[in-house]
Order: sequence, then structure tokens, then C-alpha cells
Amino acid sequence: MQLEPVIGLEVHLQPKTKSKMFCPCPADIWKAESNSRVCPVCLGYPGTLPVPNIEAIRKCQLLGIALSCQLAGLSKFDRKNYFYPDLPKGYQISQYDEPLCVNGNITLASGKVIRIRRVHMEEDTGKSLHGDSDTLLDFNKSGMPLCEIVTEPDFSDPEEVYEFGKRVRDIARKYSISDCDMEKGQMRLEASISMRSVGQKELPNYRAEIKNINSFKFVVMALKSEIVRQTAELMNGSILKNETRGFDEKLGTFLMREKEGEKDYRYFPEPDIPPMSFSTDYLNEIKEEIRKKEEETNTKENKNETKQERPQKVYLMLEDQVLDIVKSVILENSSVAAQIKTGKTNAAMFLVGQVVKNAKGQADPKIIKKLIDSLIR
Ligand SMILES: [Zn+2]
Repeated sequence: MQLEPVIGLEVHLQPKTKSKMFCPCPADIWKAESNSRVCPVCLGYPGTLPVPNIEAIRKCQLLGIALSCQLAGLSKFDRKNYFYPDLPKGYQISQYDEPLCVNGNITLASGKVIRIRRVHMEEDTGKSLHGDSDTLLDFNKSGMPLCEIVTEPDFSDPEEVYEFGKRVRDIARKYSISDCDMEKGQMRLEASISMRSVGQKELPNYRAEIKNINSFKFVVMALKSEIVRQTAELMNGSILKNETRGFDEKLGTFLMREKEGEKDYRYFPEPDIPPMSFSTDYLNEIKEEIRKKEEETNTKENKNETKQERPQKVYLMLEDQVLDIVKSVILENSSVAAQIKTGKTNAAMFLVGQVVKNAKGQADPKIIKKLIDSLIR
């Protein structure tokens, strides 16, 4: 039985904003002192109210257009309920059935189209720092805005995931949506993978989700190690289940937990934020902004290309030194020199070529031509 992988990808991007997603806390959390960027809203105090960050929403919509998505005129936030120590509210504000952007795609260099199911907006959780005997919590990251890109399971090779990830990063940077600095956690990847027989159309009835991968290299390594593991399990006759796995550079992937189903999250509409509606004018502005930026980059790229065609070359050889070479080349090619004298001026280019060659590219062709002209009349 020949098996092939079926892979889907989720990309989390932190959009560039001044403040967090639902509170006025500053978003410059990198290397900030633990719990110095917090307030009652992002600490999940009872009785506080979230106020959506319009700039984060706009960045998410720009990302949607840049990924060829359709923007929703109507959208809303939902509560995703789960318990985690670094999620003090006991739920995460995310988007369930009415995301900001749907149906995008990216075409890979091979021509293969990877479909993007949706791009939605959500808030990040805090961070648990596990020590030997205790765990510390840092809530600076709690409530940071995140754009989540969800693809269809269209990848059949880890290298395609690598290319897609890099393309997303380039696009987000090009339109100033996110810096995508993976070291700073501004871009994180989650891949889901299962194996099926080559030629099988239906999706397998299980999948392993590999969480929080913070480098393109690691996502490829993690997927390759899953392909080996799952293939061996299936060949042994094992029945694989939905599960969430972590990745370690040395260990490969490891089981974290059996995966929660959607029903475990008990999604329901966020009662503290009214549904959003976007006017056609506003949505057209977003599209126009991407179009303009596209035009600007194209003009810039064209200019750069023209510059590259005519590099400013520096010639090291002085005119006196060039003159010596010109004289010897004329002596060696007296018949050509004679032709030039009779009016075949094009033949001078042959001599110029010879001088350039003898000077090993260090003589300015303009000066060579001038000297030849002055010596052969
Ligand atoms: Zn806050």
C-alpha cells in the first residue's frame, strides 16, 4: 500500500498595532518586564468589557485581500471556551462561523493552488513559564491581536508547506501587516497531517495536529517525522486517532493530548461585542490600499531592475596604463587598424574588445574608444 500525506496549515500572525486587541495596553511586549503590559481587561477580571481594536481588524482585512480572499460585509466575534492557566477568562475571543475573510488562495511556484478557507481575528493567550517545581505566568501576551489563516488540506509535501509559509510572510511584510518575526512569536505555524492511500480522494478519518511551531525549518522536520511515524503505525495495523502533538528538535513529535472536538469548545456569539457590519465603501478602500501598494512595489521593482542592468562599474586602470595596452593591441592587429583607416569604423569595436580583454575588465571602454580614435586617423 503506497501512502501519501494530506496536510493542512494554520498560520497565526501578529498584526502591527499600537495596542492590544480589546484593551488599551501597549502592544510592544517583546522583552518587556513580565506582567508590565496588563490591565483588568486582558487579565480577565470580571465585569470588564472588551473594545475591539479597529486597526487590528483593518490589518486582518488587508491580509485577506492580499491573500485573494473575499471580505465579509457582516462578521462577529465568538467565545471559544476552554480552560488553561494562561487564559484567565476561561475563554478566548475568536471568530467561529462568520470570519472577516473567506475563500483565498496562494499559487505555489509549481503552479499548484493552495486554497485558503478563512482568515479570522482572535486574541492571544498569556504565557506559562514552566520551572522545575513551579509554573510562572506572564500575561503580557494575553489579549494580543492575532490573525489566523486556515488553509484547506491541500498540501501533499512538507516542502510545499515551507514555500507557502514563506510566501505568507513575504506578503504580510510587503503590505506592512505584520513583521512576522518568528523569534518574537509574531508568526506561528500549526500543521495537521494524516496519511491516505495514493489515489484515494476522501480525507482520512483522523488527523494529528502539531502545535505552535516557530520556524519554517521545524515545520518541515515535524511533518517529516510524522510521515515516518504514521506510516509505521498504519503498516502495523494501528488505528490512528485525532490528537494534538508537540514538536521537539531532538525527539520529533510527541503526544500532548487527544484533540478536542469543536463541540468541546462550546462556541457561542460574544455577548459583549455587537456584530460588525462593513460598508461597501470601506471594503473598497481596503482593496484600493492593497492595489496602490501593489503598484508602488511594482514600480520600485522595475526601477531596481533598470538599475541592475546598468551597474556603475568602477575601472581601476588609469588612462596612461590603458594607452600602453591600446598601442600594443593596434600593433598586433595592424590589418584591423588599416581597415579602420579606410573608413570601416565598426572594426574599431573589435580593437576595443581586445583591449578590454587584455586589461582584464579594468579599463573603461569609453576611454579605450577615445584612445583608439586618437591613434588611428
Ligand atoms: Zn490590557
